Amino acid sequence: MKYIDEFRDGALARQIAERIAAEADPAQRYRFMEFCGGHTHAISRYGVLELLPENVRMIHGPGCPVCVLPIGRLDMAIDLALHQRVILCTYGDTLRVPASEQLSLLKAKARGADIRMVYSAADALQLAQQNPEREVVFFAIGFETTTPPTALVIDAAARQGVANFSVLCNHVLTPPAIRAILDGASAAERATAEIQGFVGPAHVSIVIGSDPYARFAREYRKPVVIAGFEPLDVLQAILMLLRQVNEGRAEVENEFTRAVSPGGNLRAQALMEQVFELRPAFEWRGLGSLAHSALQIRPAYRQHDAEHRFGLNYRSVADHKSCECGAILRGVKEPRECKIFGTVCTPENPIGSCMVSSEGACAAHYTYGRFRDIPLVPVAAEALTA
Ligand code: SF4
Repeated sequence: MKYIDEFRDGALARQIAERIAAEADPAQRYRFMEFCGGHTHAISRYGVLELLPENVRMIHGPGCPVCVLPIGRLDMAIDLALHQRVILCTYGDTLRVPASEQLSLLKAKARGADIRMVYSAADALQLAQQNPEREVVFFAIGFETTTPPTALVIDAAARQGVANFSVLCNHVLTPPAIRAILDGASAAERATAEIQGFVGPAHVSIVIGSDPYARFAREYRKPVVIAGFEPLDVLQAILMLLRQVNEGRAEVENEFTRAVSPGGNLRAQALMEQVFELRPAFEWRGLGSLAHSALQIRPAYRQHDAEHRFGLNYRSVADHKSCECGAILRGVKEPRECKIFGTVCTPENPIGSCMVSSEGACAAHYTYGRFRDIPLVPVAAEALTA
């Protein structure tokens, strides 16, 4: 398939891996963060880590949409569905993220709430049109990739007078999250993470372009290489980052030229600007409350803003005390460092948000990497023949 098969070519992958090994300075440690959950998934699924030399390590970032959603925002959605009896629509992964009181949207559905999985924001608007006697709320999550479709349906609802449709907006922004990672919760965390460069998001960058990353190269001296989601894209991006580090450069480079331009998708940006404005502060799971890091619906569309319409208030709720999602999302811990990884917390029974989506660091490691955590015990030849 065009743009798929040629970016999954094993022989080419090995060639790029050989270049990385040849150009990596044995005296150096290289640590790069893949910001996006799509890259985390690709790295785990295609065994990219196994192709890298020992001194080139990847750190998972906070770019998985359901992973960064705090419990308090899920509680707002559950309250709407259970107590205000709305039809609540959302994307599939969101249904299983743990909320307060051992609930999730899926468990609230089992208690009788009318919660429906949709494949697009447009599906939610259609449900509102088909059920004019019910309030329909779209629980919107995600980074800049999923924001334009939400803007489109809010604008369509306003134009078409779909009065029973509103959106509980949780859209977040990529650049403030990268800044939060670089600023770090503490000097100790910054030292632990020691990030030397970023593999920049693929789909987000199609919307916002490559220009918004320039300040990370300029002010923080951290190279950024935007990459597609296929294994060859990721390997090529790692090679480009490694070359920048070796040459003392800190620039924004674009490996994903087949889809990303410097300015991004201007029509999508204009639509987002028309419908949304910056939220003064938003609490991220793991990163805490970040100023101007998320979007809210503009007053002109207030009728379709569920927070305004239902008088919702946000209440911050702490994560499960054993869960290390926060530290994993900040790049200072790995999934296997969580005491309940793979035992109490599994994809079938997620305790933290990073175990829910295939883009979550814990879920990706559980599915593709946990077998490598087990040290191999040499087996005597006679034991095999016995
Ligand atoms: S294994 Fe589960 S509880 Fe532990 S950090 Fe990952 S998601 Fe959180």
